[in-house]
Amino acid sequence: MAASDILILGAGPGGATTALFLAKLGIPCTLVDKATFPRDKICGDALSGKVVEVLKKLDPALVAQLQMRSEFLGSYGVTFIAPNGDALRVPFKKDIGEQTPPPGFISKRVDFDQWLVEKVREQPLITLREQTEIRQYERSETGYRAIAKSGEVFEASMIIAADGAGSTFTKDIAGLRVEPEHNCFGLRAYYKNVSGLDHQNFIELHFLKEFLPGYFWIFPLPNGYANIGVGMRADVMSDRKLNLKKEFEKIITSHPAVRMRFEQAEMIGDVKLHGLPLGSKKRQLSGDHYMLVGDAAMLIDPFTGEGIGNAMMSGMLAAQQVSRCLATQKFDAATMAQYDKAVYDRLWSELLLSYRMQQLVNYPSIFNFVVRKANGNAVLRETIMAMFEDLDLRSRLKDPRFYFKLLFS
Ligand SMILES: Cc1cc2nc3c(=O)[nH]c(=O)nc-3n(C[C@H](O)[C@H](O)[C@H](O)COP(=O)(O)OP(=O)(O)OC[C@H]3O[C@@H](n4cnc5c(N)ncnc54)[C@H](O)[C@@H]3O)c2cc1C
Repeated sequence: MAASDILILGAGPGGATTALFLAKLGIPCTLVDKATFPRDKICGDALSGKVVEVLKKLDPALVAQLQMRSEFLGSYGVTFIAPNGDALRVPFKKDIGEQTPPPGFISKRVDFDQWLVEKVREQPLITLREQTEIRQYERSETGYRAIAKSGEVFEASMIIAADGAGSTFTKDIAGLRVEPEHNCFGLRAYYKNVSGLDHQNFIELHFLKEFLPGYFWIFPLPNGYANIGVGMRADVMSDRKLNLKKEFEKIITSHPAVRMRFEQAEMIGDVKLHGLPLGSKKRQLSGDHYMLVGDAAMLIDPFTGEGIGNAMMSGMLAAQQVSRCLATQKFDAATMAQYDKAVYDRLWSELLLSYRMQQLVNYPSIFNFVVRKANGNAVLRETIMAMFEDLDLRSRLKDPRFYFKLLFS
């Protein structure tokens, strides 16, 4: 029998963050993962400002640690490359100087997830069980019974499913289906010696006209590495019968705006593919005795592909919900719905905006226009910049009058 009856499935950023916030609240839990850490996760490896925000809430000293460690590269912004080749450089913060702490980081997931799991191991209130794959769930009188591949049984009054994009809990118990128009496939490869990387480690998102509505990315990493990849919506992939690996190779070897940068580059390891369940649609994220967190809750940003920050944010909110449930001893679906509200109160406005921006990519001439205008218009440029820091400004972007004023002023 497990040590605590709060059971978290998956020790990725979502599950590990849930466990760490529970420990901060003085609540013991069991955290299981089918892997043994360190383990790899296919990802772009960009840790946004939201990751930093959640870590600060957990313990401000953690952010200082990231700055000190060589596996983490501080990143100061993002460059969008429009279909016509124009680039828009958007710093994550205004007035970045020599001494400004990095607003974001880039780190191979094998290192970031291991670092988080090290924090988990330091917490006596968390029982971490690696190499423990949960295969089956049954309702019990007090909640759920989770049965591992080994046959071991975990009795739980609360299950927090943070078992990623392929979550069987999400499919079998929560009843959520992967919908191709709200799902993306991404392919990632590691390279050395990619030329022309940004001097402030800006990440690059290229919206190549031959590959719309998908995107190609170049993210610098520590020690001369770079994370290179492509992402495309699943429905578009199947409509066009696209082979993502072939598209990726074509871009690297022959796209005029890209191929020069790979002339001296060497791929390290293999190209790998993984799904991204997008948060472009609201779903029911909880029910009697359970909550879904991170990719299991399908919370990935539909425009940027960012999911780590949303996984950690939802993990923090899930821990707060556990605390409310324990205080009232209520675990029913109506009580758990407070969690859904908390998640969407925090994330929905930006997910919706990103969904609109994803649709904008279908109109390359508008995309080109916005980038050209932003390059010549300080107010628009600063507004886009502020989207990364300030949610109120994001909501301003939803008001059509705002565009009118900006574009025709
Ligand atoms: C190609 C690609 C590029 C991306 N780029 C970025 C990016 O640059 N920045 C960003 O923020 N996000 C990015 N994302 C999204 C990001 O990778 C995810 O959103 C993030 O990993 C979600 O974290 P999680 O904790 O929910 O799930 P995961 O990180 O997937 O962790 C789930 C854990 O559950 C475990 N598990 C699974 N099943 C079981 C089971 N049955 N029993 C026990 N354990 C189980 C797994 O071993 C794993 O450790 C990208 C995704 C892809 C595919």
